[in-house]
Amino acid sequence: MSRGDEMPYRREHLFIGGDWQKSSAPGAIRVISPFTETPVGEAPDTAECDVDAAVDAARHALTASPWAAWDAETRAAAIDRFADALERRAEQTALLVTAEMGMPISVSGAVEGPGPAQTLRYFAQLARTTPQEERRPAAHGSGTTVVRREPVGVVAVVVPWNFPQSLTMFKAAPALAAGCTVVVKPAPETVLDAFQLADAAQEAGLPDGVVNIVTGGRETGAYLVGHPGVDKVAFTGSTEAGRAIGEVCGRLLRPATLELGGKSAAIVLDDADLARAVRGLAWACLLNSGQTCYTSSRILAPRHRYAEVVDAVADLAASMRVGDPADPATRVGPLASARQRDRVESYIAAGQAAGARVVTGGARPSGFERGWFVEPTVFAGVDNSAAIAREEIFGPVLVVIPYDGIGQAVEIANDSPYGLAGTVWTSDEDKGLEIARRMRTGTVGVNFYNIDLGAPFGGVKASGLGRELGPEGLASYVDLKSVYLRR
Ligand code: NAD
Repeated sequence: MSRGDEMPYRREHLFIGGDWQKSSAPGAIRVISPFTETPVGEAPDTAECDVDAAVDAARHALTASPWAAWDAETRAAAIDRFADALERRAEQTALLVTAEMGMPISVSGAVEGPGPAQTLRYFAQLARTTPQEERRPAAHGSGTTVVRREPVGVVAVVVPWNFPQSLTMFKAAPALAAGCTVVVKPAPETVLDAFQLADAAQEAGLPDGVVNIVTGGRETGAYLVGHPGVDKVAFTGSTEAGRAIGEVCGRLLRPATLELGGKSAAIVLDDADLARAVRGLAWACLLNSGQTCYTSSRILAPRHRYAEVVDAVADLAASMRVGDPADPATRVGPLASARQRDRVESYIAAGQAAGARVVTGGARPSGFERGWFVEPTVFAGVDNSAAIAREEIFGPVLVVIPYDGIGQAVEIANDSPYGLAGTVWTSDEDKGLEIARRMRTGTVGVNFYNIDLGAPFGGVKASGLGRELGPEGLASYVDLKSVYLRR
């Protein structure tokens, strides 16, 4: 990584086929700091012929490189070396993500820095313990069937800016563990940290072409997703883009995993210890300045405790320190882009126009001449049919909705176009589990929310298709083949 005075991070080449290659695109992608609004760094843009080269390299690695011939143990050892190399870069990766998109360093240092290595190690171990072949006696008559797990092939990994490293590795790690090769296309807002993967892959000695990085915006993403050399698409991003990708993959009969938006509910039960719940809600509802797909941005409160919950959530939001994302004391940083800030502000205006009451926040914080900040904002008096309760805002904006009885709480939670996540806050974990069973979402946290690498993660309805993580996540990078033997 070269460091110039005016622009700390600059990349000049693409990582294709294990080599640093000059891009054929004329332009560069400039990353602007959401905090200072000045350039953070630059990377080359990608032309279609560069994507062709990356997909060719990935295919060649799949069929003709040592990668293809390695047994599970050799591949798992290489994935562990990749994890080691990323771990050595963890601190710099966290700083980079914070500089690019404004994630508070307390979050990037805990998640984006160390997370990718942990995910790689989890899947390396799973690769070791998952048999590639299984022999089954035929169900009828004599004979044996050998059921083989084979890599699905070249995987296009297309990711957003909000957790760029973690979300890339939720896809790349199981893909590599299954024996696939990958072409990663990061979001332009966070293009720089993606090169950490390239550096680490090279240092770990992964065979050429196993990991390739192309840059660019949605046009490059669309070109990659529809490329004839791609066998599977793994995408995280907006529901709108997910639908477009789903249409392309449907036409091509190409498997796709789509992790999309959310509008999850936090059900606060009447027995909840509010002080404890509120501490947990800070992570579950406002993580990464609210730019997290699974945040419980709708808080459902029993009507008889409504005022109490509104006050507690408002106090929490008002207490979260807004500021320089590189300061470890900061809890809410700037939003990732001016466009994102405008979008959040337009929802705050729409909420007010619809008659909801801003209890705290609602404006840009004072004292910042620059930076795409919005104050943590809490709305009360919100009906679940309002746009601020139905649409994903992707910022530090929470709505508190009253309910009468647990049945209605579950009904409101499920009355959403989305179904990614949710939380239940109660002093009785068994009761929390019982309610979690009734929520129509892919994941639910009881008294906290924390993604488990060992369990499937994903959504229902407009939150997406398929699951990442866990053995189920690995299975989505595997093609099954049955070989029938006479004996
Ligand atoms: P986005 O959908 O605009 O872009 C995501 C990525 O897809 C980027 O790399 C972009 O260049 C690319 N892209 C966009 N349109 C494309 C197309 N038609 N074909 C191929 N590639 C395309 O999303 P964003 O604004 O960068 O990210 C925020 C969204 O991501 C939010 O809606 C959020 O909920 C969602 N998200 C979901 C999860 C999850 O796991 N469910 C996790 C994080 C973020």
